[in-house]
Amino acid sequence: MPFFGVFCCPPSLSGLRLRTKRKFARMKGMEKNTQPRTFTRDEGGNLDQTLRPQTWDEYIGQTKIKENLRILLTAAKERGHAAEHILLYGPPGLGKTTLAHLVAKTLGTNMRTTSGPAIERVGDLAAILTNLSPGDVLFIDEIHRLSKSIEEVLYPAMESGVLDIIIGKGPSARTVQLDLPPFTLVAATTRISMLSAPLRSRFSGGTFRLDFYDEEEIATILSHSAEVLGVSTTREIMSSIAGRCRATPRTANYLLKRCRDMAQLEGGALTLEVVQKTFALLEIDNLGLGRPDRSVLEAILYKFSGGPVGLNTIAAATGEEQATIEDVLEPYLIRLGLLERTPRGRVTSPKAITHIQDYEQTK
Ligand code: ADP
Repeated sequence: MPFFGVFCCPPSLSGLRLRTKRKFARMKGMEKNTQPRTFTRDEGGNLDQTLRPQTWDEYIGQTKIKENLRILLTAAKERGHAAEHILLYGPPGLGKTTLAHLVAKTLGTNMRTTSGPAIERVGDLAAILTNLSPGDVLFIDEIHRLSKSIEEVLYPAMESGVLDIIIGKGPSARTVQLDLPPFTLVAATTRISMLSAPLRSRFSGGTFRLDFYDEEEIATILSHSAEVLGVSTTREIMSSIAGRCRATPRTANYLLKRCRDMAQLEGGALTLEVVQKTFALLEIDNLGLGRPDRSVLEAILYKFSGGPVGLNTIAAATGEEQATIEDVLEPYLIRLGLLERTPRGRVTSPKAITHIQDYEQTK
């Protein structure tokens, strides 16, 4: 029946439509019976903003970077100049964006935020730069995703404070040079190796690598977050969460929020049992690895006899993107000594075999 699909609806499709209509009707009924609720911004997912440190004292750890920045910023402020450009790099959630906010706060200026993938055309960057006020901080997240042509416009802007724009095409094209207000570029990246050497060399204020946090630092961050969230906790609970947060403040705060939700539904206080139950539900093991981490290790161990195996093969075997494996999963697995990067590919360590086997037994 060649025209069946064009002129009339197959019986299964009309049945589906009917069921969908009924489902909507039921949902409408449910809405009618539900008490109207008001949502605060926090329930709308703005908690991350609330938990972000507002002062240098609240920003825990990374002491060497803080000291370097304090000297750089204080000196620039005293001279009445815009501070020099700063590049921050390291895995996600370690506090790069928070540092950029603190830089702007210390300089007493506004911070404009954008990201590499958001700047698609030279005109986008030109619009951002020409709209800055003198002394502003421009924060570009994921700067490694800027295209080459945009990078080339950025060089003279960073170095000489000018913007070279080409107007027109062909023989009638001409270059116009615009003076920019003095500004400080704070850029962040998880992939410093993808930045071209000329771009890297233009961060005259310094290039800083953020480190993973130790358990004590994470416990301090968690105590502050618990206070902000109004959750009462114990040292034991703090260290239990600190041990499973991949040494990353953002993950620590995320786990605390999920434990708080579980405690609320369990009808009371945040206890160690509630915390354990939350970890079990999120499938986070005693090293803080989640399912994606374990699936990378399992793929190398079981499908490729422990490696060496290439990144693209691991990505295909696990269904994760290469960038996610490289930026998010691998750094922590390498730090734990479960995975190794060799010239021939990724290799798991004997520790990884023990860990995966232990996890499978306790499941
Ligand atoms: P990144 O930009 O590196 O991905 P963020 O700066 O967005 O990371 O940090 C994520 C969250 O982690 C912040 O909102 C903040 O709550 C917390 N955080 C990060 N670094 C620190 C720190 N040094 N001290 C306290 N909290 C931190």
